Amino acid sequence: MRQQPGVLIVEDEPAIAELIAVNLRHHGFRPTWAIDSATAQAELDAVLPDVILLDWMLPGESGLMLAKRWRSNPRTKAVPIIMLTARGDELDRVAGLDAGADDYIAKPFSTKELLARVRAVLRRRAPEQAGGVVSIGALSLDAATYRVSFNAQRLKLGPTEFKLLQYLMNHAERVHSRSQLLDQVWGDHVFIEERTVDVHVKRLREALGAAGQMIETVRGAGYRLTAQAAPASPAQAND
Ligand code: CA
Repeated sequence: MRQQPGVLIVEDEPAIAELIAVNLRHHGFRPTWAIDSATAQAELDAVLPDVILLDWMLPGESGLMLAKRWRSNPRTKAVPIIMLTARGDELDRVAGLDAGADDYIAKPFSTKELLARVRAVLRRRAPEQAGGVVSIGALSLDAATYRVSFNAQRLKLGPTEFKLLQYLMNHAERVHSRSQLLDQVWGDHVFIEERTVDVHVKRLREALGAAGQMIETVRGAGYRLTAQAAPASPAQAND
């Protein structure tokens, strides 16, 4: 099962929020809706989305204020923000981007354009989620089709193990601490213990079979995926 990117929609007009949510859901995203700034903050405190669609004109605290606040908070500052607004002029666009928005869409917008912008910010911020094949030795991972293979044999991985492997392969040969892995793979480690990483690394090694030895435990430091520990390819005579 592919992990669906979470999108937080902060929009006080239910009809617009609903339209956006339906389209996102239809295209493989997991939308949540917050009708005002307080609800949006509560959502963010609970779980970090992969991207935020933020309406400029909200009752109470404006979208601009929220964007500034989330950008200055270490926990939320890396979450991409796309501002939605009826104000299309240059000055407001600049204000939105100054506040830390990654992109900006003027209402009315086509849902096609919205989806393209959402995918674009996800690609820029998290290349791991955007697809593409990465191969290290005989181990290969295709993010677009969600397939992992070793020596051309397909392997079966759970969603967390897949994400973990994807991150380790995209950042191979480097040592990652448990806390770094929680940040990068789980996205948010407020409610997750570091021991959880060990559990998933163990499962990942099991799922990888012979290729499991490519994931090294670096004592006192964390984990590393390395091509140097790759098992030898099976002899041609076996084919
Ligand atoms: Ca509004």
